[in-house]
Amino acid sequence: MISIPKGTKDVLPQESYKWQYVEGVARKIAKDFNLKEIRTPVFEHTELFLRGVGDTTDIVNKEMYTFKDKGDRSITLKPEGTAGVARSYIENGLSNSPMPVKMFYIIPAFRYERPQAGRLREFHQFGIEVYGSPSPDADAEVISAAALFLDRLGIKKVKLNINSIGCKTCRAQYNAALKEYLFPHLNEMCATCRERFDKNPLRILDCKEEGCKKVTAGAPRMLDYLCDDCASHFKKVQQYLTAGGIEYSIDPNIVRGLDYYTKTVFEFVSEDIGAQGTVCGGGRYDGLIEELGGNATPAVGFAVGLERLLLLMENTGAYFPADEGPDVFFAGMDEASRAKAFSFACTVRANGGSAECDHMGRSLKAQFKYADKIGAKYVIVLGESEMASGVCSAKRMADGAITELKFEDIPAFFAK
Ligand code: ATP
Ligand code: MG
Repeated sequence: MISIPKGTKDVLPQESYKWQYVEGVARKIAKDFNLKEIRTPVFEHTELFLRGVGDTTDIVNKEMYTFKDKGDRSITLKPEGTAGVARSYIENGLSNSPMPVKMFYIIPAFRYERPQAGRLREFHQFGIEVYGSPSPDADAEVISAAALFLDRLGIKKVKLNINSIGCKTCRAQYNAALKEYLFPHLNEMCATCRERFDKNPLRILDCKEEGCKKVTAGAPRMLDYLCDDCASHFKKVQQYLTAGGIEYSIDPNIVRGLDYYTKTVFEFVSEDIGAQGTVCGGGRYDGLIEELGGNATPAVGFAVGLERLLLLMENTGAYFPADEGPDVFFAGMDEASRAKAFSFACTVRANGGSAECDHMGRSLKAQFKYADKIGAKYVIVLGESEMASGVCSAKRMADGAITELKFEDIPAFFAK
């Protein structure tokens, strides 16, 4: 037997309704925030991620699914959603649309990681991207969309942490101070961080190794180095969050995994799903579009990991609406009434209702059992007497209530 690749998961027919529910709530959030869906390819030229995610990130250094296609091009399965959206925005001249350009996506993403709870090699993200506004209210709106999404899904125990990692100017000064502090401790840190020291010291704050965490605990904080513009931006984001009734904490250690972030960064974190507790991560990335060859364009967004979200919902007993069965099951007894059952199922569906009938040659009793199992809301038995009279009984399965129906009234009764 051929088995599923490590770090991937099937969504089975009996659980897919949960995904559809969560995706439905995501789409409703998008609608309520006037975000339009953008669909970009599952694979892109590798170069896009080298430039758009950054070559000091774990993603680019260790996690990408990269291969040569038959035309000898280097192709990468997308490890995240933003780079593809930014590429498309530039390539399709979306900067000519009314600003800001507000987009969302629901995508699979691929990272070669060590699989564990909440960490897969193929996972899914709901993300939003707002391009064109440099204002702190855009940051707050993006954060509020994530907060409302989690709230609508009944997720209560997540914490919003925010931070600012400044802009090119103030971060350069901070990097110098950070390096000065870290330098005497280099031999206490992991090999990756020793490499990061020169390329991107900020990322050392993101390291999960104990030795590195110990060293960085006493490090200078970016927040103390923000330039006036970045400090005022961060203050206003907080004012807007407060105005929107959104609770937050400041966590000076959030730096986010990707290189292109500027100013605001944020995470929604849960303690109910083990070590991989970040369900949503986002921030502002004002340098990205320019980095990819477009005109300088401010941008802000987030991505929610849907597997982690579902895990969190399951672990905290969040509500899922029940998987719906068909409106009606038509049971037939002999050849003529079975044919009638089939024909009624077709008519009900043609009128927009959902219907099912037996395809397994079951006995009447077994058909009833099956109808109950699949959650049919009504069952209609067609036998000799019904065929003769042209009248049947629709039994409502929830309470056993019976409605007498003439054959010709069946389509209207189940019409939607
Ligand atoms: P982490 O620190 O958990 O590795 P990250 O910084 O790499 O997260 P992002 O690139 O910001 O994550 O992705 C946004 C969200 O996507 C994460 O908060 C998480 O919910 C989800 N995610 C990231 N990587 C994985 C993965 N390998 N499996 C499942 N979900 C993931
Ligand atoms: Mg990661």
